Amino acid sequence: MLKKLEQLSILNLQDLLLHLPLRYENRTRITAIADALPGDHVVLKGQVVNTQIQFGRRRSLIATLRDETGQINLRFYYFGKTQQAQLELLPEIRCFGEIRRGATGLELYHPEYSKQLRQPLETTLTPVYPATEGISQKQIRKLVLQALTTLQQGDLLPDLISRSGQPVITDSLVHLHQPFANSDLNQLSEGLDPAQRALSFEELTAHQTGILFMREKLVQLPAAQFQKPSNLVDQFIKGLNFTLTQAQLRVAEEISQDLQKGSPTLRLLQGDVGSGKTVIAALAAVQASENGFQAALMVPTEILAEQHYLTLKTWLEPLNITIDWLSGSIKGNTRSQLLEDLSSGKLQIIVGTHALFQDQVIFHQLGLAIIDEQHRFGVHQRMALRDKGEKQGFMPHQLIMTATPIPRTLTMSLYGDMDCSIIDELPAGRTPITTRVIPGSRRTEIIDRLKQACASGAQAYWVCTLIESSETLSAEAAEDTAQQLEKALHPLVVGLVHGRMSGQQKAQIMEKFSAGEIQVLVATTVIEVGVDIANASFMVIENAERLGLTQLHQLRGRVGRGRAKSFCLLLYATPLGETSKQRLNVMRQSQDGFFIAEQDLMIRGPGDVLGDRQSGNVNFKIADLIRDQDMLDEAVALAQSIFSQDNTIAKALVQRWIGSVSDYGQV
Ligand code: ADP
Ligand code: MG
Repeated sequence: MLKKLEQLSILNLQDLLLHLPLRYENRTRITAIADALPGDHVVLKGQVVNTQIQFGRRRSLIATLRDETGQINLRFYYFGKTQQAQLELLPEIRCFGEIRRGATGLELYHPEYSKQLRQPLETTLTPVYPATEGISQKQIRKLVLQALTTLQQGDLLPDLISRSGQPVITDSLVHLHQPFANSDLNQLSEGLDPAQRALSFEELTAHQTGILFMREKLVQLPAAQFQKPSNLVDQFIKGLNFTLTQAQLRVAEEISQDLQKGSPTLRLLQGDVGSGKTVIAALAAVQASENGFQAALMVPTEILAEQHYLTLKTWLEPLNITIDWLSGSIKGNTRSQLLEDLSSGKLQIIVGTHALFQDQVIFHQLGLAIIDEQHRFGVHQRMALRDKGEKQGFMPHQLIMTATPIPRTLTMSLYGDMDCSIIDELPAGRTPITTRVIPGSRRTEIIDRLKQACASGAQAYWVCTLIESSETLSAEAAEDTAQQLEKALHPLVVGLVHGRMSGQQKAQIMEKFSAGEIQVLVATTVIEVGVDIANASFMVIENAERLGLTQLHQLRGRVGRGRAKSFCLLLYATPLGETSKQRLNVMRQSQDGFFIAEQDLMIRGPGDVLGDRQSGNVNFKIADLIRDQDMLDEAVALAQSIFSQDNTIAKALVQRWIGSVSDYGQV
């Protein structure tokens, strides 16, 4: 039993009390059969007037229950031989379950039932707890009841914080484990009951306090202190075949200031697709090398790793800075040589995928960790890279880059008060992309347009979206499309790139496309992020209705990078659902990443915007960053004042909600 509780992270009474119900059932009153609605969980009372066994896909027992107001069928899937006979003999039964629409109209699915009608109904709502195999709801309920008694007797959970108008913690917990029968179930199920709000607020405050402890610890650690950028940086900037925008110069300066501080920095660099973040990353990396430290640039895909490597190489080789790249598919001698050069310090800059986390990857002196397209990584992965530097006794600086604007309240909650730089300007000379939304039935016509565009020198992407979650199947779909297009577009050269190809194969195709030897590149969404080929000015996305706004915006960002006028054609399959229609409209209207992200929030509801990878990292017991956004500012402020004024309370808060302060590894 203790083991099972441990699996639920329940180690003591306090944890048990904070193990809050997932939902509630109302077993406090009997519903008339005529009033039962689909989706309701209800108690019904009546007589079984008929039973029969149905042989369908699954054998089931149907028992017809009647009360004064009507009748309804109970459907049992697991039943014994005697059960059928027994049910018919009972004068009356009471049963509990969910009403669903079934084969015989409304049905009560696999109800619990009891013939002990004299037993009183429950007086409070029945909590349903997160459970695990081997421990039943009944057992958890019993334990919680005992814990509640202890809670009400002594000061097991003293009030650590107070917020005007909100119930204190003891009352909140008693209410949430045993809500009165007349409590507002809707409010409870949405987490908006005043008791839930009070606890969420306390948890958010505790979480913020935890971040402050981590921050305090972090800034005490030594970090690589870089000197003011010198001639190498000047030389780098002079060597570029473009001039940096004002916005780029500004953020480069902000970052450079960070690097000279001597304490580890954590900076978020936001800039829309195509705003030129890579060159900023390179600039910071040059500063690291100039000061004798290594820099790592982590990216989410192999294609991007290689491309960044090639770009950076052309910039850095003239400066005699050594650079290489690592991914899962780089093996054998190449790999071992690379790892050796990295640990000896011969290699100054490395670009890589997740492969950079592996144990064999040892840095000589990692001074700067840059994460590109951070929304594709989890907090833990970012920290894994950072820890590679920490092992050598100091913390690397961290620069996190993203094209997806993240609302400030959310970044605060995930990372604390992180510094933030924004590139709010695109390089000059970019021409807007014309976006059209077109039914897939006009595919032939589209192919003709593509042919004309390529005939006049353009290159094009043809993006096949995932049909199946399986990479193999989507690769096959892309292969079919490539074959079709090859026939239809003859004599144009059609290339194909998808997730099932080896790194080397992908690289070869991308190189050919980049060199103009391939005119039309059929691709799965592997090209979604970062790919930068200026001559590509035409993009077709098939089944665009399947993709989310952020993904569409990223994909479209692959064109419109050169001087030529660019087109993006979004093909959709009919019938088009309401939200898909809204999304495609937003794409047609705007090319502004911030606007698109805002619309995304409105269309999807904020729940998904952060993505599981990021928000899933924060294991709240009750709070929800999105739902409880309105309380965040207040929680941040309170955490700061508690942290600076009362260390005992600050520690107790973290202890109560998170565990020991040292377990708390967010920053
Ligand atoms: P993103 O911010 O989406 O990562 P990139 O760094 O890939 O954008 O930059 C997009 C393209 O713009 C690249 O080809 C890059 O070399 C180029 N670029 C970056 N900064 C400038 C600038 N100031 N002027 C012109 N081109 C630039
Ligand atoms: Mg980029």
